[in-house]
Amino acid sequence: MKHYHFLLFDIDDTILDFKATENSALTFLFEQQGIILTDQIKDQYEQINQSLWQAFERNEIDRNAIFTSRFPLLFKELDFAVDGLVFEKNYRYLLNKGDDIIDGSLKVLKKLSLNHSIYAVTNGMSKTQYQRMESANLLPLFKDIFVSEDTGYQKPMQGYFDYVFERIPNFSIQQSLIIGDSLSSDILGGKTVGMDTCWFNPNSKPTNPSIQPTYQIKKLDQLYDIVSKKELLPKNTF
Ligand SMILES: [Mg+2]
Repeated sequence: MKHYHFLLFDIDDTILDFKATENSALTFLFEQQGIILTDQIKDQYEQINQSLWQAFERNEIDRNAIFTSRFPLLFKELDFAVDGLVFEKNYRYLLNKGDDIIDGSLKVLKKLSLNHSIYAVTNGMSKTQYQRMESANLLPLFKDIFVSEDTGYQKPMQGYFDYVFERIPNFSIQQSLIIGDSLSSDILGGKTVGMDTCWFNPNSKPTNPSIQPTYQIKKLDQLYDIVSKKELLPKNTF
């Protein structure tokens, strides 16, 4: 069995439940506007948001363009007279406080951190990500946190990973595994730099033949079987 010592975890929707935070923030803000947030509106928002993030990952737009466009575009599509930029500001305020956790993620991180070096690799804004991770008590579990905003790049860009690898002491790509929920950023990024990848796919999203992960899991505790089992036992057993 291959031994992975360096575990690089994506944060949003891998460790922190960003979807839950997003959902409660959107519900609250739509309610404030007197609009019922239907599944259809949610889908429309998700489509707009996702296509902007993907354009960002392909380096076609800058990060700020995501935040200045997504709600103006949504309210234009819906034909609602709501100021999209003010809405975005209030939305960001609520997201920055979001510390909902993916079921069981804290336990898995605590256990793995006993015998592995755990790092956070996350696309997003530095202040926001640190704030959310701190409020979820995650900071002590990570040896270091790499937020895309601080690197000048983002996943899946090679430049992002170069930045990360330079800053991990005694780094070895052969002993590394990236774990994340996004095929287009986490898995594609890992594959691009020649690192093994683990796709966290709790909702059984369809696979993409052109971005094949090394492993696929539905629950984070399946990682115990992927990283060396031997490592989870006390060292003096051997
Ligand atoms: Mg993610």
